[in-house]
Amino acid sequence: MSEAPKDDRLIVWFDIDNTLYPASVKMAEKMREKIHAYFLELIISSRKRGDTPPSDMDPEQEAEVMHTAYYTNYGLALRGLVLNNHNVDPLDFDRKCDGSLPLKEMIKPDPSLIKLFNDIDRSKCRVWALTNAYITHAERVLEILQLKNPKESKTNDISEDRVEFEDQIEGVVYCDYTSPKFESKPDPEFYRKALIQANVTDPSKCLFVDDSRINVEAAKKEGWGRCVHFYEPELQSPGDSEQDKGAVEHDVVVISNLEQLRDLWPDIFKKAV
Ligand SMILES: [Mg+2]
Repeated sequence: MSEAPKDDRLIVWFDIDNTLYPASVKMAEKMREKIHAYFLELIISSRKRGDTPPSDMDPEQEAEVMHTAYYTNYGLALRGLVLNNHNVDPLDFDRKCDGSLPLKEMIKPDPSLIKLFNDIDRSKCRVWALTNAYITHAERVLEILQLKNPKESKTNDISEDRVEFEDQIEGVVYCDYTSPKFESKPDPEFYRKALIQANVTDPSKCLFVDDSRINVEAAKKEGWGRCVHFYEPELQSPGDSEQDKGAVEHDVVVISNLEQLRDLWPDIFKKAV
């Protein structure tokens, strides 16, 4: 991970998954299927080896229960696997889960999103990504969306149809699965490390957008200046759909479209000529 030079500009942090593309692509559901398959394989092989006491549950059920418990208690299923000593290789997990998603079939570059990024005035503001994914997935997504050319991971396939595009995102703070007790959002430590990595000394200079309310609240608690919850009401259950666009709740603004950032944060966008 490279450190950014000292910089007094504001910094806007974007979450990646389900923030830079809509939840309607069902990425979260696909991820969940892959992770379920991983848990299932783990349980079946552990039973074969006789490593686990006999269970009343069938493996499918046990996988579901374990996955849900780990996700709920640790924020990320993988953290549960690592912290409960399942002898899992996090990079194998990443390859079989996020790494096996057919991203190119699921997401496409969105010209209006690229324009939104391009319209951010870089003399006033830096733009970074803050994700709970590993760098490989983060870079695959950002490359497909044409927001950032891959730098860190070496595993991206260099396809012949590679398109040239400008970097809209300067740096990526990701969940480092290779570190033994890695942090992720919403751990306060994850946000603090992000500031160190981007060389930010004043958290009030941070602007943040995430589709997870709990991640947004955590940033707010860390003193991050302007925190926005990206929420797509049409995709939620009917009872939840009354949410006001741009409504302020507990000091957090809720938006349903990233274009709303132009009105919300006019100071970070280039002035129209
Ligand atoms: Mg997200």
